[in-house]
Amino acid sequence: MGEAVHLRLPHAPPKPAPGCPVCADLVARRRAARGRGDFSAATDADVEIRHHPHPGRARRR
Ligand SMILES: [Zn+2]
Repeated sequence: MGEAVHLRLPHAPPKPAPGCPVCADLVARRRAARGRGDFSAATDADVEIRHHPHPGRARRR
């Protein structure tokens, strides 16, 4: 990510891209994992959200 993010918390959850069904699914999966106390799976979902590629994302406006 770029220079816009200057507030970085160690456990801040990554933001899903708006309108991305895959990210939305990963968020749901993370929430479900946390709900059952499976933090390993929740972290996995975080990582997937963070690394999910979005072609339009790098564009500036
Ligand atoms: Zn996505």
